[in-house]
Amino acid sequence: MRKGIGVSPGVAIGTAYCIHEIFVNPETRQIDKSEVLAELQRYDGACERVAADLRALYQKVATQVGPDEAGIFRAHEAILHDPSFRSKVRAWIVDEQHSAQSALHRLLEEYTKLFESTHDDYLKERLADLRDVVIRISGHLSDVLQPQLASLPEPLILVAAELLPSQVVTLGKRQVAGIVTETGGGTSHAAILARSRGVPAVTGLKGILRAIKTGDTVVVDGRDGHVVINPDPETASAYLKLQREFFHLKDALAENRDQPAVTADGEKVELLANINNLSDAQAAAAMGASGVGLFRTEYLFLTHPDVPDEEEQLAAYREIIAASPSRHVTIRTLDLGGDKTIPYLGHAREANPFLGWRSIRLSFEHPEFFTTQIRAILRSAAEPDSRVRMMFPMITTLEEIRRVRKIVRKARQSLIDQGKPFGDVQVGFMLEVPAAAMTIETMLANVDFVSIGSNDLVQYLMAADRDNPKVNHLCQPLSPPVLQVLNKVITACRAANKPVTLCGEMAGAPRAFVLLFGMGLRSFSMSPAFIPTLKELAHHLTREKAEAILQRALCLKTMSGIQRLMADQIGEIAPNLKLLDTA
Ligand code: PEP
Ligand code: MG
Repeated sequence: MRKGIGVSPGVAIGTAYCIHEIFVNPETRQIDKSEVLAELQRYDGACERVAADLRALYQKVATQVGPDEAGIFRAHEAILHDPSFRSKVRAWIVDEQHSAQSALHRLLEEYTKLFESTHDDYLKERLADLRDVVIRISGHLSDVLQPQLASLPEPLILVAAELLPSQVVTLGKRQVAGIVTETGGGTSHAAILARSRGVPAVTGLKGILRAIKTGDTVVVDGRDGHVVINPDPETASAYLKLQREFFHLKDALAENRDQPAVTADGEKVELLANINNLSDAQAAAAMGASGVGLFRTEYLFLTHPDVPDEEEQLAAYREIIAASPSRHVTIRTLDLGGDKTIPYLGHAREANPFLGWRSIRLSFEHPEFFTTQIRAILRSAAEPDSRVRMMFPMITTLEEIRRVRKIVRKARQSLIDQGKPFGDVQVGFMLEVPAAAMTIETMLANVDFVSIGSNDLVQYLMAADRDNPKVNHLCQPLSPPVLQVLNKVITACRAANKPVTLCGEMAGAPRAFVLLFGMGLRSFSMSPAFIPTLKELAHHLTREKAEAILQRALCLKTMSGIQRLMADQIGEIAPNLKLLDTA
């Protein structure tokens, strides 16, 4: 049994499919001079087959899901045809008589070393893309990956160093019941992805790819981060039973999508969805969200070769608004820097990217695209039956709010001057910086609403990087300092009669939900997959009960004390949700 970090709740048992196996035990083989020509042909043939696969995948995903999601395969084709990629591998085959597999492995190692020290998620993801392409070529060279996958009994447990974008899409037809990865924290790409699909996941298990082989039976317990390799028959049957219960529970919960989100004593709660793109908006509707509480617009920019212009943004926002429940969408302006960068903004590497030139700070220095985005958002709200709100990330000072309001006023005036229709859009800010929490009353007087970005707020309060598994024990929302700050902010918003939502990952966690409800929060925005769970929890909760639990939690002095209290309380309030409860 291994212990990692549970990042997506639930329990699964299945057959391991190790995605990077080929690179953990690489083939290092020299070929004979006489084999060089044949090896080159083998390599070129594999590349051609990969190109054909990628084109077919693009077509399939574009028609079944949408061109945005399919775009990744175009990007992979571009990597495949990149002259430096192709020529390096060919040169090593010719000059150093590497087998094609060895040459590919060397290429990957070279790039991995280059990117190793980067904190830049954009570059890391490009490395993930490169690895994805290399694995595909490798698969065609050895002809082992696909047939092996086809013969494995379902459900599958994916085991990977990190999860790659296309693996999730292409394995879509195979039943994937669990995910185990070596790297990544609770808000990493793989974790968010697993949660959005409702698949149990454990991360932070360094070296797990050496411990698990494809075909092994593996248990993933996303509640407490346990992974069991080849369990004995009793353990396996206990987990099989739990897995059946987990599937039943998910099916049963999904049926509550049309029920209202109210507590047992009749208090309404607003359950909104966090989305990145159109398919997330559709998932939000399917899961019974009442609107979108956070639309992260970065992905629109990250998947575009340059800055999308006003008309392109307008079209994208309109499409999202039309697909969202009640046409209610809170659009967040660009939140780049920190862990997400785009090269065309001239973003340089910084020693402390999360404390640096990111988010609203970066937007202020690019008035040309900032104003364009604000104009596109204002115009997207012109439809009379939509409810669009605009929010600004990482606000630290009152001066920044004033500056934002001035830019919005100017953008409105320019639309009036040009006779372009636009809608009534409320303006709010994301409370993510402790400085803004300390001065919440002053900030509130200048905005229409607040959205608490607890992912960032917690990392800044605890001085613990949200993506670093080594400090994950500190980056915890259910800790005395975080609860005190959240209580102060929510109380201040209610006293000032300002709408407040919480849109960080904790909004979808049962334990945190009870405490936040006790603080008076009534609006929560989360991954669509969590909405049925939270609706069910609300049905079991009363205001009096939540307030009493909060008072007890606020008296506790340690994180472990709070976790113990909340584990017991979830067990009492909604024992049927125990399987979906995580620390
Ligand atoms: C947050 O910080 O809580 C948040 C919702 O924003 P993001 O995760 O995009 O930083
Ligand atoms: Mg944030």
